Amino acid sequence: MRCRICDATDFNLVLDLKDQPCGLHFLKKEHFINENYYPLRLLYCNKCSTVQLDYTMKKEQMYSDHTYLSGITKSLREHFDNLAKYVDDNFFKNKKNKSILDIGSNDGTQLESYKKLGYEVLGVEASKTTAEIANKNNILTLHAFYNLETADKINKKFDVFNAAGVFFHLEELHSVTAAIKKYLKEGGIFVVQFMYMKNIMENTAFDQIYHEHLLYYTLKTIETLLNRHGLSMFDGYFSSIHGGSIMGFVTHMDKREKTKRLLDLIEKENMSKTNELETYFKFAKEIENLKDKNLNFLNQRKKEGKTIYAMGAPIKGNTLLNYFKIDQNLITYLVEKNPLRKNLYSPGMHIPIVLEDEINPPDVYYVLAWNFKNEILKNNKHLIDRGVEFYFPINPKE
Ligand SMILES: [Zn+2]
Repeated sequence: MRCRICDATDFNLVLDLKDQPCGLHFLKKEHFINENYYPLRLLYCNKCSTVQLDYTMKKEQMYSDHTYLSGITKSLREHFDNLAKYVDDNFFKNKKNKSILDIGSNDGTQLESYKKLGYEVLGVEASKTTAEIANKNNILTLHAFYNLETADKINKKFDVFNAAGVFFHLEELHSVTAAIKKYLKEGGIFVVQFMYMKNIMENTAFDQIYHEHLLYYTLKTIETLLNRHGLSMFDGYFSSIHGGSIMGFVTHMDKREKTKRLLDLIEKENMSKTNELETYFKFAKEIENLKDKNLNFLNQRKKEGKTIYAMGAPIKGNTLLNYFKIDQNLITYLVEKNPLRKNLYSPGMHIPIVLEDEINPPDVYYVLAWNFKNEILKNNKHLIDRGVEFYFPINPKE
């Protein structure tokens, strides 16, 4: 195996989450029998320090039928609106005929924000169902995998490229990055959003690791990738979205000076030794401590005769459930808002999904969607007042 960023072949195995099913695939009962398991292991590249999975599931296996909808969550909508406004205010305020291409555009929520600001929008989305939803909402969306081939077919330059929560799991990473370089207008901005490995480690948020995410970026490692293709990040900020992400602003190399706030973030990253091998070994140890703590809690409540449901059925929840081996003996249901997941079961642990408005609340909610902690506590105040306990398996540092 070669490093996905720098082509080196010298690695250290830093984390082994054992064989796991594809976390994206919530299943029907009749599909339990055909369920496949794949290794979920994290390697550290000794040359460029990028951490990455050693096993690549085929992209067609992963995305063709996923049921994640970004428009469902209110805080994501706000985030998308704010980001679009920031980009427009700072880079394209008085420009006419502005355009954006969103890679992995999901149901078109991010593009909607740009459309409101007068941009011509185009989405590229690999999931057919999700692309159809976007098109129904009048967000022009191509059902395809974005790469150089797709880009050449579109054959058009854009002021803005956006890649949110997708850039780290692209199998054809170099093809995609080359396409962005080729079709980004001069003075254009590529907005790259990625979960920040520094935060994943600081929060022991190992559930962010799943087959879909081939790469786990830091500021250092993403810059290595961008530089290889004549691009460079010149600005960026930290956002609490998805449990800790970087919003990076990228343009053609040597066109803009790095901002002070980006330089400060890079400095912090260096100080915290995020890119060093030892830090990853420490991370692996902390996951074991977290496992003990969580299982002790669940077993204790079970002994007390309490009912426990999980709140949310996020993809990352499946990494946690499968690695901690939490099945229906501990958690009766996964409670969801997303109607596409009704009557499905979680991969691996096979916990049934029920919709929130169809059930009575349990004694304890085990919150798999812990990254929406504030929103969840606010929305469920009436339950908390009635004595329902909300337990967060992972507690992000503010
Ligand atoms: Zn490397």
